[in-house]
Amino acid sequence: MTKSATAESFTFETEVQQLLHLMVHSLYTHKEVFLRELISNASDATDRLRFAALTDSSLAANGDELAITVEIDKDNKTLTVSDRGIGMSRDEVIDNIGTIARSGTKHFVSALSGEQAKDANLIGQFGVGFYSVFMVADRVTLDTRKAGEPDDAGVRWASAGTGEYSLEPITQAHSGTSVTLHLRDSESEFLENFRVRHIISKYSDHVSLPIRMPREAEERTDSEKTEATGDEAAWDVVNKGSALWSRPKNEISDEEYQDLYSSLSYDPEPPLATLHNRVEGKQEYVSLLFIPSKAPFDLWDRDRQHGVKLYVRRIFIMDDTKHLMPAYLRFVRGIIDSADLPLNVSREFLQHNKDIDRIRAASVKKILAEIKRMAQQDSEKFQTFWTEFGKAFKEGIVEDADNRQSISELLRFATTQEGPEQTVALDTYVKRMPMKQKAIYYITAESHAAAASSPHLEVFRKHDIEVLLLSDPIDEWLVSQLTEFADKPLKSVAKGALDLDELGSDSSSEKKHKDTAEEFGDLATKLKEILDGKVKDVRISRRLTDSPACLVADEHDLGGNLERILQAVGQDAPGAKPILEINPDHPLIRKLSADHAQLSDWALVLFDQAALSEGARLSEPAEFVRRMNTLLVAAGTGEPAAESS
Ligand code: ADP
Repeated sequence: MTKSATAESFTFETEVQQLLHLMVHSLYTHKEVFLRELISNASDATDRLRFAALTDSSLAANGDELAITVEIDKDNKTLTVSDRGIGMSRDEVIDNIGTIARSGTKHFVSALSGEQAKDANLIGQFGVGFYSVFMVADRVTLDTRKAGEPDDAGVRWASAGTGEYSLEPITQAHSGTSVTLHLRDSESEFLENFRVRHIISKYSDHVSLPIRMPREAEERTDSEKTEATGDEAAWDVVNKGSALWSRPKNEISDEEYQDLYSSLSYDPEPPLATLHNRVEGKQEYVSLLFIPSKAPFDLWDRDRQHGVKLYVRRIFIMDDTKHLMPAYLRFVRGIIDSADLPLNVSREFLQHNKDIDRIRAASVKKILAEIKRMAQQDSEKFQTFWTEFGKAFKEGIVEDADNRQSISELLRFATTQEGPEQTVALDTYVKRMPMKQKAIYYITAESHAAAASSPHLEVFRKHDIEVLLLSDPIDEWLVSQLTEFADKPLKSVAKGALDLDELGSDSSSEKKHKDTAEEFGDLATKLKEILDGKVKDVRISRRLTDSPACLVADEHDLGGNLERILQAVGQDAPGAKPILEINPDHPLIRKLSADHAQLSDWALVLFDQAALSEGARLSEPAEFVRRMNTLLVAAGTGEPAAESS
């Protein structure tokens, strides 16, 4: 390698600088994971070269040359990890490890700053693993040359992990990357051969490429010593390198599964479930899938990178977030290794491939069956699953019509009869329904508290009818797709007319309601006039026992909560007008029926109050306050204040 020009210097983007600052100055446990990160990058780069070589034979290299090497230089206090992989062009170096902050950077900075020592194990999940070298090194150089480019297209990146890095052109006879860490004095443990070997077998045993280290002088036999001349020292392969999933289940220990899981998920905790299946027959493949015990930071990130990895005959093909697993199971980690697919599959190919569709459908069934098993046999695990992934899992009702039935059996809800945790299955709800109850009732609101305190629940509470309290945004879509369960319709308590039989109505109460409707008809008509443009109708409520009024949506309208959600994400909501229901048993309504003084203020206040109790935000809160005060003053002094406009 020869330098061909002087180095140019660049500054890191602000977010990268913050991240480097953390790497250099924070306290970390498990700093040794930097080596796992470098080896994992080297292994990815080699996989990518092999993949590229499938369509461009000029890139092919023989398998043996593709090993990863790890070398220690005690005199210069350096550790070097090298690969013969795809390498990077100058622009790629700038993009990947320099100027541009990657999507995980921000998450990392917010998750890992602070005083306490942090577990460096977590670094990998943020997709910023390379920078972990600065936990142990005070200077790092990276030499790389992209496969297929001329020898002199190489580039050397160097940085001390502060604000800047330098780039200079180099000549390199082969493609690939080598990263050299100039270790800090305090990190001399990483100059010990046995320590480094131990780290590799702990974290990188399953990497399918051989990872080689020079055999230490004292370990060589005399004949090897005489044979070894100059650079051609003897090498050892340090990792086992077998694809764990291709071995029979009964030969794999829990620890081995756990190690593989950690390397895929960067989660140091054991997974909730491990599913290892070999499928033979018309289609042959192995799947090894894990349900984590904790949601990854990017569960809600559209650009999330991790998913299920696709292998073909133990060769890594691609990390796929879509085709192998539906979005509602995006937290599943693992490997699918097919014996039938061609090696040169592309993403387009995956999109329209029947084999892939079948593998995916079978994997989904296995996962759902496992979740069901947890629900039946291990409620604690199931509840962990639900707490971590329930919100994402519910999307399955909308996304996966084929499995809607099994998914609906696994849903859990908060209800008026349980605490705020989502623990009640629909099946349990149905079993608890009184004989006369025909529908499964729910209410949707922005928060659990808003749902639980909604005036719409009053009559249901009075008659001891359980109501599902739905407060996740996805719930609105869920109930739009899940219209019945066990032959019982799902019905919103805030929409349409109520089924009065269920609520204990009989002929005498019917007569009473009719009389009340007549008695309050005049008030309802006046209120409707005043609220023209805001409400469709004003009617006498049978839902309320304590509150003076509430808003109800027509059977087929979207409902206030869904309209608010749509508006929050910038979508047009049709803005159907609600119906105002008034409670004839409430003293305020009785007063207004007898005395129409200041009725227009009262009407608007009743309307705004009803909207507030649904969790809506008022469009003119100051107006509401002013009107309230006018009415309070009038009530306090007994003299009507000037009616406001
Ligand atoms: P991640 O590997 O999770 O994407 P890293 O910070 O470890 O995050 O690496 C950033 C990017 O730099 C990689 O995605 C890859 O494009 C590039 N890179 C890192 N190491 C190598 C390597 N040895 N060979 C080729 N590209 C590499």
